[in-house]
Amino acid sequence: MIIVTETTCREVISAAHAFEAVEAVFAAMARGDAYNFPVIREAIGHAEALYGFKSGFDRAGLSLGLKSGGYWPGNASRGLSNHQSSIFLFDPDTGQLQALVGGNYLTAVRTAAASAVSIAHLARQDSRVLGMVGAGHQAPFQLRAAAAQRRFDKVLAWNLHPQKLSTLQQVADELDLPFQAVEREQLAAESDVIITITSAHEALLQRDWLQPGTHIACMGTDTAGKQELDPSIFASSRIFTDEVAQSVTIGEAQHAVASGQLQADDITAIGAVINGLHPGRQHAEDITVFDGTGVGLQDLAVASAAARLAQERGLAGEVSLQA
Ligand code: NAD
Repeated sequence: MIIVTETTCREVISAAHAFEAVEAVFAAMARGDAYNFPVIREAIGHAEALYGFKSGFDRAGLSLGLKSGGYWPGNASRGLSNHQSSIFLFDPDTGQLQALVGGNYLTAVRTAAASAVSIAHLARQDSRVLGMVGAGHQAPFQLRAAAAQRRFDKVLAWNLHPQKLSTLQQVADELDLPFQAVEREQLAAESDVIITITSAHEALLQRDWLQPGTHIACMGTDTAGKQELDPSIFASSRIFTDEVAQSVTIGEAQHAVASGQLQADDITAIGAVINGLHPGRQHAEDITVFDGTGVGLQDLAVASAAARLAQERGLAGEVSLQA
């Protein structure tokens, strides 16, 4: 088996590689070629940690495996990231462990790739203003990946703690995009594309703040109870997701479903748009929402690409588990 370290993952996987891998696996999911297994996530009663695993199989890309890890809130005080994960890939023909791949950087780029795929397929071509809600660990990855999808000429941003916006501003500066910190209402009114990537548990954007034609990639809600959007947004928008089953249970749609404003049948897997089986946005004035819940197959897709590229470039370590 091979070992692909976090450093190697950063070296071999760009935002463009992640986009390609995630777009392909969303397409495979919608064709029925790839499926996720039930997610396990548990509070382990130690170090206040949330631990779990996400797994699946992509018959088209031949990725079989799991991502294991979670959230350790005390890590920051030890100089470590609070989010920790590792990805295990197995040979689908023999069940043998093929690769152990660092999952921290890959989680960030695969999550950013998901919103970028949604922008590529759902945002208006003439989108010019990008709104960022949230400025935590994931946000800079989101901004970089989104910037490659449309000719944005401005970034508006809001964060609960405005002092944290400086990291996002640095990325905007690198991308040569003017950056402005604004209140949420202004951000909603002026943005063509909005990415929400927070740990909020209440609506941060209201329906009547939004302009017709906006695309929202709602990426922070990946657990029951989290929330970023007013559920009424769902009643008057076209709704897309990575996986419908997750969208209605742990994704942003959970709230609109619970309040009776949305049904699972109203939600389209983005893979159907990628595969040309659903038109996606139908009118310039449509508000489109992508409910990005995060599926294990995204992790397997980017980890498989990292393993392949690391091997090709002689950067993968090798060990044998066999006697
Ligand atoms: P982080 O802890 O680094 O940052 C959290 C962000 O949320 C910060 O901007 C913070 O200001 C904001 N926030 C926290 N509480 C808030 C509140 N009550 N109101 C408004 N903003 C609030 O986290 P991160 O790594 O950047 O991840 C952000 C979110 O994305 C988390 O909820 C995480 O679970 C989720 N996530 C989703 C996926 C996916 O595939 N959809 C993948 C990874 C992470």
